[in-house]
Amino acid sequence: MQKTAQQNYGDDPLKVRDTDQYKDEYVHGFVDKWDELIDWDGRANSEGDFFIQALKERGAKKILDVASGTGFHSVQLMKAGFEVTSADGSPEMLAKAFENARKRGHILRTVHADWRWLNRDVHDLYDAVICLGNSFTHLHNENDRRKALAEFYATLRHDGILILDQRNYDAILDHKIQPTHNYYYCGDNVSASPEYVDDSLARFRYEFPDKSVYHLNMFPLRKDYTRRLMKEVGFQKVTTYGDFQETYREAEPDFYIHIAEKN
Ligand code: SAM
Repeated sequence: MQKTAQQNYGDDPLKVRDTDQYKDEYVHGFVDKWDELIDWDGRANSEGDFFIQALKERGAKKILDVASGTGFHSVQLMKAGFEVTSADGSPEMLAKAFENARKRGHILRTVHADWRWLNRDVHDLYDAVICLGNSFTHLHNENDRRKALAEFYATLRHDGILILDQRNYDAILDHKIQPTHNYYYCGDNVSASPEYVDDSLARFRYEFPDKSVYHLNMFPLRKDYTRRLMKEVGFQKVTTYGDFQETYREAEPDFYIHIAEKN
């Protein structure tokens, strides 16, 4: 990914609340380790076919994955027969996604684009935009969130849908989960804990079996706030699902998935 091996949050990491920070957070070691340890088959099993079903039910065929990352969802959807374009603001991520797809026998169509100016680089219309893997949380101010949602809206056909997921930050902000709580991903290879949280920052700590530690500074989106923003940019109907699969107790989902309909 980025050529640097270390993350750099400066002297006071809690002050880093900037939308452009995502470009420096996914450093080489972090992304490579993540992809190596979270095997795609395990992840596919734990996610099931929720997204594929949701897209098929709504007749979506042409998909824009705006948060490609290393390409997991793009490749899953290509395997399931969808026509996929993969976008990301990080060229290193796109290169990795292309390589991951190629290894699995697919040629990935990639676009380098920041969500805030998506339509400067994406000139087509799609049945669905997907923004998955808790990606939208990287936008640190409301203007950027509104801008990104408006750009997603504009690249959709008249009856298109946006599928966007987010961590259940309400549970963290409302102290239903302790900062020391460990979420384990697909086995015990990677653990994540919300090391620090306030109304505009959730700083997560990721620890790997070799004891290496990385962080992500994210904006703690409340579920109803995300839903409201989607409606305010023009989506007519927003349905929110709780994901119970990677959970610390059954009553409190770790993730929410919003499906926003343009029409
Ligand atoms: N969807 C993938 C997954 O689930 O494995 C990747 C998720 S990763 C948490 C978030 C991705 O969003 C990163 O690849 C990052 O580069 C991208 N990203 C964050 N902010 C962005 C922005 N403003 N514009 C474009 N891409 C952005």
